[in-house]
Amino acid sequence: MAVEPLLSVRDLTVTFATDGGPVRAVDSLSFDVERGRTLGIVGESGSGKSVTSMAVMGLHTGADVSGSITMEGRELVGLAERDLNRLRGRKMAMIFQDPLSSLHPYYTVGEQIAEHHRVHFGSRRAASRRRAVEMLAEVGIPEPRRRAGEYPHRFSGGMRQRVMVAMALACEPDLLIADEPTTALDVTVQAQILELIARIQQERDLAVVLITHDLGVVARVAHDVLVMYGGRAAERAPVDVVFAAPAHPYTRGLLDSLPRLDDADDAPLRAIPGSPPSLLAPAPGCAFAPRCRRAASAGAEARQRCERVEPGPVAVAGHMVACHLPLGPDAAPCTPSSEATP
Ligand code: SF4
Repeated sequence: MAVEPLLSVRDLTVTFATDGGPVRAVDSLSFDVERGRTLGIVGESGSGKSVTSMAVMGLHTGADVSGSITMEGRELVGLAERDLNRLRGRKMAMIFQDPLSSLHPYYTVGEQIAEHHRVHFGSRRAASRRRAVEMLAEVGIPEPRRRAGEYPHRFSGGMRQRVMVAMALACEPDLLIADEPTTALDVTVQAQILELIARIQQERDLAVVLITHDLGVVARVAHDVLVMYGGRAAERAPVDVVFAAPAHPYTRGLLDSLPRLDDADDAPLRAIPGSPPSLLAPAPGCAFAPRCRRAASAGAEARQRCERVEPGPVAVAGHMVACHLPLGPDAAPCTPSSEATP
């Protein structure tokens, strides 16, 4: 029997009015997230992944949003701010890349978690403080009772991110959105925070949306992956399917860019040549075409199709892929080492 998704996004389009004209930051995006699963949304800067998460949370200030975002069947697009406020915290919560700017420097971390709990549950002061200490213990802060009385500047970057996870989960939401939660951390602490998110996700049967530019992060914790490019979905599939045989040339380029264990210490970084597309003046056809080696090496007719006709999503061997020439399992790398970035 099919599992009902907790979060369902259909044809989501987010447009910002700018001095240069409208910018469609997210275009016709659809995906589902089920309880107990983590969806990794991956893409370069400007791909629309963070705008998508802000739209789900109803934090897309100044943007025009169309399409549908439902949570347990309830439509969120067009919901009154007061109703969205009730959902934020209790049903869905978000953690950001920089915990220091999300924590208030004048209040102790315990007081900030407690206040969050009081606002959403109307709990009494003593109960909310107890809850704050419980949450700090749950996310692995040593001596949680003592540390609840300390200010954010007394915590390391990793510990501050644990505090943010504690605050996000204090009201027991069903959906956690983590926007680049480990980007500012060193690799050891990054691994600890990803482990924490994965553990809590399993223990609480949470639905998690993990926004990242790093496919390596996705490989560690996600069950499914959505690759975005130029505001649109390029590829969507279970994570093991994507890592075994990516179908979209852009995904393949991202995978080829990951450092390998057998790389020499002085090996140059491999990058996808070219730059992300302009969303202000999008060209016709596939947004990835100017950077796509697969299109470049195709025949003239196929190449023209890539340059003129925007590819729609099609199902290919367990993937949803938006490409006229999806890759097969034995495809050669799309970013040859001769184009490596020193
Ligand atoms: Fe490359 Fe064409 Fe596929 Fe776009 S549609 S990714 S240009 S092969």
